[in-house]
Amino acid sequence: MKTYDWIVVGGGITGAALSYELGRVGFSVLLLEPYPISDRASNATRYSYGGIPYWSGTTPLTRQLCTEGIDIQSHLTDELGADTEFRYLDLVLTIGLDEDVRRTLAGYRDGAIAPTLVSVSQACELEPLLDSKAIAGALLFKHAHVNPRRLVAAYCSAFQRHGGTLIHAKLERLLCDRHRTQGAIANGTTYHANNVAICAGGMSRQLLKDAGIHIKQYFTHAELIETKPVDLKLRALVMPATNQRMQFETDASQGEIDALWDESDRELAPPSIDPGAIQFLDRTIEIGQLSRLLTNPHAKVDAVQSEAKIRSQVGKVLPAIASLPGQWHSCLVAFSQDGLPLIGAVPDYANIHIFSGFTSPMVYVPTLARRFAAFANGASDDIIPQLSPLRFA
Ligand SMILES: Cc1cc2nc3c(=O)[nH]c(=O)nc-3n(C[C@H](O)[C@H](O)[C@H](O)COP(=O)(O)OP(=O)(O)OC[C@H]3O[C@@H](n4cnc5c(N)ncnc54)[C@H](O)[C@@H]3O)c2cc1C
Repeated sequence: MKTYDWIVVGGGITGAALSYELGRVGFSVLLLEPYPISDRASNATRYSYGGIPYWSGTTPLTRQLCTEGIDIQSHLTDELGADTEFRYLDLVLTIGLDEDVRRTLAGYRDGAIAPTLVSVSQACELEPLLDSKAIAGALLFKHAHVNPRRLVAAYCSAFQRHGGTLIHAKLERLLCDRHRTQGAIANGTTYHANNVAICAGGMSRQLLKDAGIHIKQYFTHAELIETKPVDLKLRALVMPATNQRMQFETDASQGEIDALWDESDRELAPPSIDPGAIQFLDRTIEIGQLSRLLTNPHAKVDAVQSEAKIRSQVGKVLPAIASLPGQWHSCLVAFSQDGLPLIGAVPDYANIHIFSGFTSPMVYVPTLARRFAAFANGASDDIIPQLSPLRFA
């Protein structure tokens, strides 16, 4: 009977990076992910815009992680031996006609790098597909970008090249005895391990709940439209300067609302839309994003209505993009109460860990996966203990 040092559950960006890093420091690792990369219909990483907001740190902790994150991202193509499509591009954050331009700019004053306020004509020069009549101006960042699917593929192949095992199977349940796990059952097979790390994105809460473990992790149902490769050229990553989703998530995890997450089929707030779009190097475009706070991770929504809502809002800012043919998709995006990820052993179980709830995984995951693996291997770390899920206990 083989006993792995670690079983990692979930092969999105969090699980792929963590598996690679745990393997890199010498652990034997089994990564369980039900779907091949080409067929992950509901995986959040598959639909990520791929932006790396390395400029966004507002505290000494997040600034340090952003500095480390961009450094690692910029070297990953070489390190993993596969192209992640890392590049720099303009991030144009649109300011609506009903917004106060100065106040919107002031909202970014705590970030490590300040944006440049640009006029309507400058914004439209940077991104000619913007409708000049729909915005009062924009904030500009030199943004970093990666193709999330390629990044995950690169992490997974490097992981396997270094001896890691990837099995396409779905975790059915954790094997728990008192306050320890012995491993997991997936697709009817028992796998033994000394440690398990849950990296199942928005499903992490449910998987742990099934094992009787309650954690303060939540999820948004995110919806978007994905096009086939198109001739139209979208130069910048476009998003609104005032992001509805962030506030929405902060409100939905506080006080008495927190308790409602254990009730099935609740809608905790009306849906919100942050109109934006990104074109990847393969010329496909992602158009988003509608967010819903539904406590049932399997909740069904009216896709036709949702798609129409996204198109109508995006059409106000990027009219040519909004009318492109495309396919509607939805996925779950995990988040936490304080915007920082949950990393470490869960309450009452020394060897069941969570590595999830990242607000900006493209910048934070590579460095925190590296730090976590070194910490698990006995190195001291001043950051990992600060992100323990026990901070909410
Ligand atoms: C439209 C959109 C744009 C975004 N843009 C950005 C951006 O620009 N920058 C950024 O940093 N982030 C962005 N994000 C957020 C980012 O995509 C997610 O936070 C991130 O991909 C989550 O990664 P994950 O590994 O936690 O989850 P996922 O990618 O969802 O992966 C979880 C995996 O767990 C697997 N799983 C589930 N249940 C089981 C089980 N029982 N057994 C085994 N495996 C299981 C699933 O199959 C899945 O592959 C965006 C998200 C969306 C929706």
